[in-house]
Amino acid sequence: MVELKQLKGAQPELASAVDMQLALVDMQRRVQSRVPLPWIQVEADWLRAQLAGGRPIVRFRDIPIEWSDFRLTFRQTADILHRHEALERPDYEAIAVIGRDERQALELVVATWYEATSGVENADPTAERLPAGAPAALDQVLLLALRPFLSRSVEAMAERTELSGWTHGHCPFCGWEPDFAVITPSAERRLICGRCVAQWAFPTLTCPFCANDDRALITSFATRDGKYRVYACDVCRRYLKAYDARHAARPVLVTVDTIATLPLDAAAIQRGYLG
Ligand SMILES: [Zn+2]
Ligand SMILES: [Zn+2]
Repeated sequence: MVELKQLKGAQPELASAVDMQLALVDMQRRVQSRVPLPWIQVEADWLRAQLAGGRPIVRFRDIPIEWSDFRLTFRQTADILHRHEALERPDYEAIAVIGRDERQALELVVATWYEATSGVENADPTAERLPAGAPAALDQVLLLALRPFLSRSVEAMAERTELSGWTHGHCPFCGWEPDFAVITPSAERRLICGRCVAQWAFPTLTCPFCANDDRALITSFATRDGKYRVYACDVCRRYLKAYDARHAARPVLVTVDTIATLPLDAAAIQRGYLG
């Protein structure tokens, strides 16, 4: 929170993005403090087989969702995005209707979306990730609303999971894509999941989105102060930002660093890469 407020002082052009992030962080922290650490029953053989097969390990039923709390979180997330102009009114209204729906309906929307996007279990291949007619922005609302619950399951699983054999670009816990990375003081790159914020090691010059590992086809550039770096792939045209902790005074702070690097997104997009 302090770091975010400092960022706003140092870069006033980021003020509105910082304000939205402050509201989201504040809400998610309050929710997370109410969510108990779940006891997750998994067989060691199942766990090993999932990881060996490149399948993530947090099943939907292992997420400790208390539905009245989830419904509130879902609504507040949509409110915050709308208030900060990150969600247009027609989308906001359509999402509010989904949030007000019968308990079972929202439950089904969340379960279908998680199963279709995590790859933990064999999802129904005919099921769409979002309900018919729902705005694409629902993805972002679900992702942010589920995070405080999902991250508790990740916390519970992380203690007994050996990730050294995980060589994939997607998250070993929830299957989502990385949306940030950190370069550790020992020069290892760790990817950070865009949904549950878990971290895992991944080769520095391989693209996590298409597995291209031809160094000549990875473009990397840093900010002038050396704090941040972009890795862009010249095969799939996607890019990933990273915090370079090798000479830094503090560890990576995802909520701060993703906002502080918004100018880098503009630079990457200007060079023709896709977010
Ligand atoms: Zn994840
Ligand atoms: Zn790529």
